[in-house]
This record gives sequence, C-alpha cells and structure tokens, in this order.
Amino acid sequence: MDAGRRGVDVSGGSESVPVVVGRSSTASTPPDFQYSPENVQGPGCTIDLSEVTLPGCPCHSHSCLPESCCCLQAHGQAYDSTGTLRDIKRTDTAYSSPVFECNALCACSDSCSNRIVQRGLRLRLEVYRTRNRGWGVRTLEPITHGTFVCEYAGEVISFDEARQRQLAQKSEESNYIISVREHAGTGGVIETFVDPAMVGNVGRFLNHSCLPNLFMLPVRVHSVVPRLALFAGRDIDALEELTFDYSGGYSNQPPVELLSTKSDAAMQASSTNGLQRKVCHCGAKNCTQFLPLDLSVLK
Ligand SMILES: [Zn+2]
Ligand SMILES: [Zn+2]
Ligand SMILES: [Zn+2]
Repeated sequence: MDAGRRGVDVSGGSESVPVVVGRSSTASTPPDFQYSPENVQGPGCTIDLSEVTLPGCPCHSHSCLPESCCCLQAHGQAYDSTGTLRDIKRTDTAYSSPVFECNALCACSDSCSNRIVQRGLRLRLEVYRTRNRGWGVRTLEPITHGTFVCEYAGEVISFDEARQRQLAQKSEESNYIISVREHAGTGGVIETFVDPAMVGNVGRFLNHSCLPNLFMLPVRVHSVVPRLALFAGRDIDALEELTFDYSGGYSNQPPVELLSTKSDAAMQASSTNGLQRKVCHCGAKNCTQFLPLDLSVLK
C-alpha cells in the first residue's frame, strides 16, 4: 500500500463498512496481506469452515425468543434485544458457556438478535500509525460496553502447522498466531489456532495491552470451529485505540484461555533462556513490561 492510498479501505470493500487507513499516518504503509473478513481453512485444518455442522431452530420469527427457541434454550441467550452481550459481569470473570448464534439452518430472519458476529463489522474503525507501537486500530465512533467490535480472523491451522510457523519465524518478525483453548464440560479441551499473518482482517492490527478495552470470546455460528470475536469490555470513546490482552487476561480465564505468543512490531525482542520475550509498551499501570509468553502450547 503506498502513501497515496491513505484513507482508502484496507478491506478492499469486503466489509460492510470501510476500514480506513489514517490520513495522519506517516510514510510507512501497512504490511501486505490478503484481506478476509472471516476465517479461512488453512494448512492442517481438516474442517471445511463453510460447512454448516450445527443444528438450526424452526422459529419462523423476526427474532428468536428464549421461551420458544431451541438455539437459545440449548446454549443460553448471549445477547439482549439490541445485540449487546447480556450478562456483562460474566466478561469480568469468565464466560461459563460458549456462545452459539443462530445459523444458516435456523428459520429466523437475518435480523434475529441471536445473529451478531455473523453480520460482521458494523463500526467505523481506522488502522493508524501509533506513536510508539507500530500499527494500531482505533474507533472513529463511541462504542458501548458489550458491543461486538470485530473478529480476529485468519487462517485456521493445526497445532503442528502453528508450531512449524512459530519455529520458522525470525526473531524480528511479527507473530500473529492466537491459540484459544476451551475447556469442554466433559473435561476435554478444544484448541483453535488462528493466524492472520498472510490472510486476515482488521483484527491483525490490534495491539496488546495489559489494560485492554476489548476481550475475546469464541463464538460459533454455522461451524463447530469458533470465530474469535472481540467485544468492548467497557464504554469506549471515539478515537481511542482498541486493544486486547494477547494472553487472554480481562475475561478469558478458564473455560477459555488464550495461549498466545502473538507479538507485533512494537514489541522489541529480547532473550530469556533462549525464549524470545517481547517488551510491552502499552503504558498501563499494571503493565508487566513483557508481552505474556506461553510457548508450551507450541513445543
Ligand atoms: Zn434466531
Ligand atoms: Zn430460534
Ligand atoms: Zn436458531
């Protein structure tokens, strides 16, 4: 992307609202990647993400109601009638159950209040050059606590592929792989690896913060493979930078953990016991000075 394209839509028209590059950005340009608003099937992923594998409800209604809808009865009502996460207190501790939206097999309308993440980006976001942390994302409009902001979309890859990509990485390169581990009721663990380095959406530009304003929640729509959805953890003002905790702090205590070695250009590599650690510049009072590191999942 050259300087002349500033102000244009990074998504190339693939989102319902443009994702603009800030005009105040300096001469450097966002790295090249293929924009995809949703996850794509990457190496080692054996599940066809376009296949609808979850059951639907028979509600011939504008919007599903918890009294009559089997989707809402089976999985709980995650959103209120305005599409905001209902029980926001849960976001301060942990979501005890995964979120399932109505899907392609459901008879309800596209404006059912149980269809939020699947509608995609609705807010006007800007990719811009931060003062000391490389590229970042800010919102051009105020966001209410509990609102869906964007997905962290990329290639869904296997554990082995994630490990190989991690090992092949040069120390100065950015790592984008997010691993989400969900603890199933049966004691089983479901792990999902998403890498937006080559194919991804606006989420790949989000910086880490030890005091973030977004939190990540796995949301299932048509497929058993979750989408990594980012929601506002508090009310956010226009022009605030959007951040999340790459390690899953804020909300993602078990049953959902992020085990991430994701880092970005703002995180300078240093070395501890042969493992690369990244210095954190988020500036939060509680900042640990280092990007959370847990390579265990990739060893
Ligand atoms: Zn519905
Ligand atoms: Zn329904
Ligand atoms: Zn449904």
